[in-house]
Amino acid sequence: MSEQKIDAIIVGGGIAGMWALNVLKRCGYSTVLIETGTLGMDQTFASQGMIHGGLKYALSGQINTASEAISDMPQRWRSCLATKSSVSPKTLKHAGNVDLDGCALLSNRYYMFAAGNTLGRLTTFFASKALHGRIEKLSKPNWPGGFKGFKGTVYALNDFVIDTPKLLAHLAANHANSIFRCEANRSTVTRHPDGGYILKLKDTVLHTTQLISCAGNGSAPLIDALNIPTLKVQHRPLKQVLVKPKHNTAMYAHCLTHIKGPEPRLTITTHQADGHSLWYIGGQLATAGVTRSDAAQVDFAKAELETCLPWLDWQDADFSVLTINRAEPDQQLSVKPDTAYVERIDDFIQCFPTKLTLTPDMADRLLRALSPPEHKLSLNTSHPRATIGSPPW
Ligand SMILES: Cc1cc2nc3c(=O)[nH]c(=O)nc-3n(C[C@H](O)[C@H](O)[C@H](O)COP(=O)(O)OP(=O)(O)OC[C@H]3O[C@@H](n4cnc5c(N)ncnc54)[C@H](O)[C@@H]3O)c2cc1C
Repeated sequence: MSEQKIDAIIVGGGIAGMWALNVLKRCGYSTVLIETGTLGMDQTFASQGMIHGGLKYALSGQINTASEAISDMPQRWRSCLATKSSVSPKTLKHAGNVDLDGCALLSNRYYMFAAGNTLGRLTTFFASKALHGRIEKLSKPNWPGGFKGFKGTVYALNDFVIDTPKLLAHLAANHANSIFRCEANRSTVTRHPDGGYILKLKDTVLHTTQLISCAGNGSAPLIDALNIPTLKVQHRPLKQVLVKPKHNTAMYAHCLTHIKGPEPRLTITTHQADGHSLWYIGGQLATAGVTRSDAAQVDFAKAELETCLPWLDWQDADFSVLTINRAEPDQQLSVKPDTAYVERIDDFIQCFPTKLTLTPDMADRLLRALSPPEHKLSLNTSHPRATIGSPPW
């Protein structure tokens, strides 16, 4: 059993950990990542993959902190997707970027629609100078496929939808020998008598002074196991709906028809499952749905689709639900956080992107929290590697 010093150990192989691994390696850190199951298996593959500019947080008709903190993110992701030159570690402003050149998208645009004249004063807000360049009303000939037969208004946003399994495969490429299958718990991660933490792999012991938790829903048990009581986590549940319709229409859009609160009524993305189109639906349906039983949520979703998208055929569609928690830093009254979160307590660093979209922001904050790299690592271990998981459908 050899012991080696390493600059940082990352716990968790969702978007946060995999993005951090790429950024740290590019910046010269010796680092490894450990994942208890398969890469992406929790929130990242359950997410809708939307990289958005926060307009959905401004549906009260006003720009606010939540909608502004995130507004640059689609452009930032697009620069990662477009060119390798965007990731120079010298560009401090965007030090947290990664190279996503060639990574696939599910849709290059995202849309909003509302039937008839149901938007009320939001129509004026969407047309206002404050939102110039972020939202565009589309004339009927420019509507995307899927709206044939719809009577109402369609807007295009700057947002897009990324294919999360392909995203993680892209981030894992070239790093197979740094990504291990291992749960961080009381027996694998312990305090080193000289400070920092030690990680026990099958045939190697690694000693680091920077243990980075990107463990999502596993963060609270990890914080507990390592006895760091100042860090608090909140979990916000969602009851997403999965629909396999008989029609083969793709839809990437928020439905705002007759919205009653500051949240889209339906947030729809389309994915492929066993060669079929699968509609994955969140928004108000999923947040309010946590109070319904699964059967009631399915009935409610059917009625919502028949009301909001009546021009499509919902007969014989298969419905199911997915209940999943979002893990975030604790906020007063469980409201959602507006930015990414990185907090360093001695040798432990807790990271939450809080949204897939804000991962580059998380990476910037992480780099600012880290000490400079100092160790070279030469790892020769037969410890099992973690592989890419699959989406929950
Ligand atoms: C239904 C849903 C839809 C969403 N849609 C969007 C969206 O469209 N756009 C957007 O911007 N955001 C979206 N989000 C939010 C986004 O998915 C999350 O913010 C993001 O995926 C969190 O990534 P993560 O890497 O922190 O966590 P996760 O993806 O949950 O990864 C954590 C990883 O840590 C591993 N792990 C846990 N404990 C341990 C341990 N002790 N040892 C080793 N490994 C461990 C887990 O197995 C897991 O793989 C959505 C979230 C949900 C739930």
